[in-house]
Amino acid sequence: MALERELLEGERRLQRRLGTPWLDVTDEELAARVGRGERLLTWDRLALDWPEFRLRWRQIVDVLRRHDILDAADASALHDLGRDAGLPDAVARWYAGDDAGAPAGLGDVVALTVRPFLARASEVLQQRVPIESWGRGVCPVCAGPPVFGVLPSAGGRLLVCGRCLCRWPFEPRTCPNCQATEGQRAFSALEGRYQVAACDQCKRYVKAIDVRRAGRPLFLALDTVATLAIDQALTAQGYSGD
Ligand SMILES: [Zn+2]
Ligand SMILES: [Zn+2]
Repeated sequence: MALERELLEGERRLQRRLGTPWLDVTDEELAARVGRGERLLTWDRLALDWPEFRLRWRQIVDVLRRHDILDAADASALHDLGRDAGLPDAVARWYAGDDAGAPAGLGDVVALTVRPFLARASEVLQQRVPIESWGRGVCPVCAGPPVFGVLPSAGGRLLVCGRCLCRWPFEPRTCPNCQATEGQRAFSALEGRYQVAACDQCKRYVKAIDVRRAGRPLFLALDTVATLAIDQALTAQGYSGD
C-alpha cells in the first residue's frame, strides 16, 4: 500500500502542473473515428511535455527500485533510457503495442509515467465526442484493455481503461477480450461488493465493483489492491486478468 500511495501522490502533484493538452483534431474527425472503431488518441496528436515526462520517469524508477520491484541493473538501464534521445520512440512503440526487445520493467514504467498525461488528454477528448456507440472491448481513447469494471445502480456495465482511465459502456454478458457471448460466467465476491465476469472461451476475466452493494464509487488503486485475493483464486483456476 505504501507503494501505491507514493505513486498516487506523485501523480496528483504532476496532474496539478499539467495544462490542458492541445489536441490538433476536429470534432468531425473524432466522431468519424468512433464510428469506425478507431481509437481517438493517435500518438502523433499527443504532444507530450517531455521535460515533465522525463522527470516523472526518474521518480517512478526510483520508487519501484526502493520497493524492490526493479532490481539495480534494470533500474539503471531504465534511468539511462530516461535520459536518452530515444525515449520518445520507445514510448511510441509501447503505445502502438510493440514491446519487442524492450528492457525488463519498461512496460510498467511507461504505463505509470504516461498515465496522468493520457488521462488528461482522455478527459478532454471525452468532452468533445460521445463514446456510447463505441461497442469495442478496448478503450475508445487509447485502445488499452479494461482493468476493472463498474456496475452502476442503473444497470449495465462500464469498463475502465488502465492506461488513460476512460470509462465506456460495454454489454455485461459479452467478453471484452474475445467478444464471445457463450461460456460467460459471472460470480460475486466479497459480500457482493464485486462481480467477476470470466470467459471460458479465452480464459480472461474482468472484475467490477457493484456500486449499489459497495455503497461507493470505484477507487481504482484501492479496489485493485482490495481484490488481489480474487485475482489469485482466478489465476489458480487458469484464468488471466490481463
Ligand atoms: Zn484508454
Ligand atoms: Zn473471452
